Amino acid sequence: MARDQDHILHRGIGMTSQRTRERLIQRLYEEGISNAKVLEVIRRTPRHLFVDEALSHRAYEDTALPIGHNQTISQPYMVARMSELLLEAGPLDKVLEIGTGSGYQTAVLSQLVERVFSVERIKVLQDRAKERLLELNLRNVVFRWGDGWEGWPALAPYNGIIVTAVATDVPQALLDQLAPGGRLVIPVGSGEVQQLMLIIREEQGFSRRVLGAVRFVPLLNGPLA
Ligand code: SAH
Repeated sequence: MARDQDHILHRGIGMTSQRTRERLIQRLYEEGISNAKVLEVIRRTPRHLFVDEALSHRAYEDTALPIGHNQTISQPYMVARMSELLLEAGPLDKVLEIGTGSGYQTAVLSQLVERVFSVERIKVLQDRAKERLLELNLRNVVFRWGDGWEGWPALAPYNGIIVTAVATDVPQALLDQLAPGGRLVIPVGSGEVQQLMLIIREEQGFSRRVLGAVRFVPLLNGPLA
């Protein structure tokens, strides 16, 4: 590509250069993310399009960033870790996501599984996320404006469920909507005391794994216009 053209394509995105992205991938790898597909999808997903332009120079730092409405785009490490946990036992067909937010985790998931069903309670966040996914031509996602505590019963069961906000308890509806062998990745707790959990629907009952301390915004109640 001619240098001028290259310059135009990258104008204004400064730190969003390929090198900055590579550095993030290297860091995730060093922090223990080992699923090559997950790393590859994060490498090619333009996180700077999921934050405000004023913050785009920080888009490839491994941190959560504000997206308005008191919400944050998840930290890349957490997106990678949760995706990896979902996929640990093999490919997934139907995945339910609670907390669309910016749509970044949604975009990553949509490139790793067959179909994503994503629930968000804040309408304006959902609308923006929808636009971004269309722009990126990621079309295997269906959105619902509603309360994640209820899951999305009409389309259940799901092979995987991921919750990107911390719940005081594991929502019963989400357990009910897991297919046999299905996996639920969810932060549980409140305030400073939060643990990431992996819950699997076994032949009889559920198994639970506690994966360590995390920091998420709370899973709230009810949809918000
Ligand atoms: N994965 C998102 C994280 C967004 S933060 C991203 O990377 O951008 C958590 C999101 O969960 C917020 O958008 C918040 O509005 C949403 N949320 C909180 N409680 C909810 C509920 N009960 N139902 C659906 N979404 C909820």
